Amino acid sequence: MSEIINSSPGIATGKDISNIPGSSSKVNPSWREFAYSEENVGGLILHVQRLTRDFGPGLRTTVTLKGCALHCDWCANPQCISQKQEVIRKDRRCIHCYLCIEHCPIGALEMVGKTLIRDRQRCRTCGICVDVCPSGAHQMLGRFATVEDITKNLVEDRAHYARSNGGVTIAGGEPTRQPIFTLALLRSLRDKGIHTNLDTNATCSPETFVDIISASDMVSIDLKLMDDTAQKRHTGMGTDAIVHNLTWLASQPHKRIWVRTPLIRGVTLTETNLKAIGSFLMDIFGGRVERWEFYSHDMDIEEKYHLLDREWAYTGNLPVTPAETGLARQWAGQSGFDLQRVTVTHATRSF
Ligand code: SF4
Ligand code: SF4
Repeated sequence: MSEIINSSPGIATGKDISNIPGSSSKVNPSWREFAYSEENVGGLILHVQRLTRDFGPGLRTTVTLKGCALHCDWCANPQCISQKQEVIRKDRRCIHCYLCIEHCPIGALEMVGKTLIRDRQRCRTCGICVDVCPSGAHQMLGRFATVEDITKNLVEDRAHYARSNGGVTIAGGEPTRQPIFTLALLRSLRDKGIHTNLDTNATCSPETFVDIISASDMVSIDLKLMDDTAQKRHTGMGTDAIVHNLTWLASQPHKRIWVRTPLIRGVTLTETNLKAIGSFLMDIFGGRVERWEFYSHDMDIEEKYHLLDREWAYTGNLPVTPAETGLARQWAGQSGFDLQRVTVTHATRSF
């Protein structure tokens, strides 16, 4: 029943939307008032995935936003990092008609042998190659959408959410990078009686965290590393903001909490790290975390990087083995965390 709704032809392809209200974290201090007063702010969305069993309880629709504050060197969702639209190319679909090369206004495309090369330094993300390609080989990642439009789509599945105790998850990237849009969408869904879950790495400012989490029924925390130096080295940001925000979250007794940790061999998948995360969770939340999910990357991750003309730093690093996930569970249990609440998945975002 899952369906991915991506950008449709003619929808604002190629626009730099970083200055559109609601689409950026760089907003003036009155952004909260704006989110509360405006019913129709906009955001940059990667896709809307209907009725999945991932990213929260019950049947859920996940709205994935573009833009992330972290740059994890293992990132399983590189298509979510940039807060701008990006063009990708699916080589297998190319029928070598050269229309995109002819129409690119700045000559950023060339065919080398049978491979189409895009000069990303020059590409303006105008979307013309997407529009002219007859085989769908070029694709624009990210579309601009308003809270009103998204809500209209989401309420159509309200009966499924209600029957399964599900709802809508707002994920990314990092949804707090688009604070106005995220807050306005959460409020709009709450007005319609739809259960919400915010999937966040808790790296935003304390003020933003408090406002946005307060508008969500539950929160899924993506918690990767407890060591500040390691977190800085592998993600570009230390743990101070995360610890601060989660400590505040611990003071909110009625908020449902799930936690997710990626299993990256030699980085997050170490005895020291998993025991430290487990102990931290027990220290601040007691037994309140309903589920601690370990997720491993899929085999298609290198393909995701290839589509963006990038290389994965962990090329050749296969998904973790059952023996390794067994160890992860063992370390989680030794930290004092209830093993019955630990689960292992492969849930990453699709394109
Ligand atoms: S989006 Fe396509 S057509 Fe536009 S500049 Fe980039 S390569 Fe050229
Ligand atoms: S327009 Fe599409 S099919 Fe034609 S050369 Fe470009 S990518 Fe290939």
